[in-house]
Amino acid sequence: MSFPLEEELVPAGLEAVGMRTAYCGALRAGDIGRTVSACGWVASRREHGEHLAFVDLRDHTGIIQCVVDGASDLRSEHVLRVTGKVRPRKEGTENAAISTGEVELGDCEVEILSVAEPPPFSLDARSQTDEAVRLRYRYLDLRTARMQHNLRLRAQVNSALRRAMEHQGFVEVETPMLWTPTPEGAREFAIPSRLQRGSFYVLPQSPQIAKQLLMVGGVDRYYQIARCMRDEDLRADRQFEFTQLDIEASFVGQGEIHAFVSEAVIDTTTAVTGQRPPEIVTMTWNEALERFGTDKPDLRFAMELVSLDEAVAGTEFKAFSGSETVRGIRLAGGGESTRSRLDSLVERARNLGAAGLVWMRVQPGGVLDSPVAKFLSEAHQHQIIAAMAAEPGDLVLIVAGERALTGKVLGQLRLDLGQPAVSERPFRFTWITEFPLFEGFDDEGHLVAAHHPFTMPHPDDIDLLETDPLAVRSQSYDLVLNGWELGSGSIRIHRGDIQRRVFSALGISEEDAEARFGFLLGAFRYGAPPHGGFAVGLDRLVAILAGEDNIREVIAYPKTQSGADLMSGAPRPISTRQLTELGIRVVSPPEAASDKQGTTAPSGA
Ligand code: ASP
Repeated sequence: MSFPLEEELVPAGLEAVGMRTAYCGALRAGDIGRTVSACGWVASRREHGEHLAFVDLRDHTGIIQCVVDGASDLRSEHVLRVTGKVRPRKEGTENAAISTGEVELGDCEVEILSVAEPPPFSLDARSQTDEAVRLRYRYLDLRTARMQHNLRLRAQVNSALRRAMEHQGFVEVETPMLWTPTPEGAREFAIPSRLQRGSFYVLPQSPQIAKQLLMVGGVDRYYQIARCMRDEDLRADRQFEFTQLDIEASFVGQGEIHAFVSEAVIDTTTAVTGQRPPEIVTMTWNEALERFGTDKPDLRFAMELVSLDEAVAGTEFKAFSGSETVRGIRLAGGGESTRSRLDSLVERARNLGAAGLVWMRVQPGGVLDSPVAKFLSEAHQHQIIAAMAAEPGDLVLIVAGERALTGKVLGQLRLDLGQPAVSERPFRFTWITEFPLFEGFDDEGHLVAAHHPFTMPHPDDIDLLETDPLAVRSQSYDLVLNGWELGSGSIRIHRGDIQRRVFSALGISEEDAEARFGFLLGAFRYGAPPHGGFAVGLDRLVAILAGEDNIREVIAYPKTQSGADLMSGAPRPISTRQLTELGIRVVSPPEAASDKQGTTAPSGA
């Protein structure tokens, strides 16, 4: 990963004021002869003769070497103000690895502004430090160049997104945090009301309903860098609270929404990386599953799934002839794979649900080395090789079975074998359209909305709502970046008649709908414009642009897998007085707290 240049960290024309006259990382040969004051933390101290020491002073812009006389009381992470004369380093001692490597501060006068206890981990050894320790002392972790870079990059992304949205006529409107259930379907965080005991607010899973109401309210083009809260299990790309670029617009269709969002993400990516990403490709959900076995295709590499149905037509090999479909992927040069490697691929495919995995090493002359070669005629073997466009030295992996399963297994094997790290360039944004309106049935036999119940069906499929609901496509769409889902959105239903039909398909009765979303449906009776919107997951976008595989690296104060904030100790019990005031009695004491790391506050916090 690369850290920003000093020019990006000290915006042009920003003068050092207050206690300092220079930033540590900004000093250059051109400053030689100036007497400056710099402020920061002691990054390291190296003795230099009897009295002298080299003290590396660090601020958010970098490090400057200071030559200090009598530095014995200067310890790691002490906060100093150093006044000295910029001078060239002794010949041969320059350090090309840092931006100030040609110079140092000499004749230094040091003022200790604050002393520091020895830090619990060395900031230079961040990568070897357990994440739990870094999160517990996050304020120390934040001093590292990597975290400074990530937080500043995040701010740049926010600011570029705001510019792009404002440029397109969008207005930022803040929506409430104390809210009521919204329809994304995740578990919600509830906040007890003190004034209306027994009633609860809900933290918004997204501003979904609020933004649709803004459309009814005539706002026309809304956006917000919005905080959203979902009480779901955490993963590398998911936190309880996350940030979205949330948008909604009136009197437009899917094409315009895509154009708004595309401009925002392309401009932002260009602004923070200095490189315009490739044009955004659009493909339907069906095509994505067909070609990549997933609705989050990573287009940075090929290895597409290939149908072998025609190539194996008429075969007597039961595993192929008795299956709904036969599909394969080709790993160029993979023919060198050892038996144990191939066995582990078979194992992986089985774990993913496949009955088996057929491997074929393509030999010179178009001969197949495969445990099933003896069951396939020469013609079938040649047809498979031709369909896969396989060359000698390649490995072909084949799965037979149901369409969805072959897609899932081969889609995953394709990623296992070919996917670069998510943050590796180029940044390939992809629009996926025409998702199904429903994703299946719940335990009670009701259809489940794939996006949310306000998603407009595809105009050609509305009449299938009652007869063949699973075949109904929707006007919803996802944006994918390098195989990560970056966000989703849809054109909304603004007509009561269609909304009633969708609710009825979902098994939501009129009373139910009234109770859950009555205030939205009520508003629609007073004139709702056709509208649609989108939400881009900012934590994921920033992580990818920052070169991080984990969103915790781009969040100032993230939570652990178990939902704990190791620094503040949250969540923790509240006082009996507070509970009484809220009218709440805790029935089962949190004895399980012991398996949550760090729920006790660190000493001194
Ligand atoms: N509210 C949706 C979400 O958070 C996005 C949208 O449909 O605009 O996923």
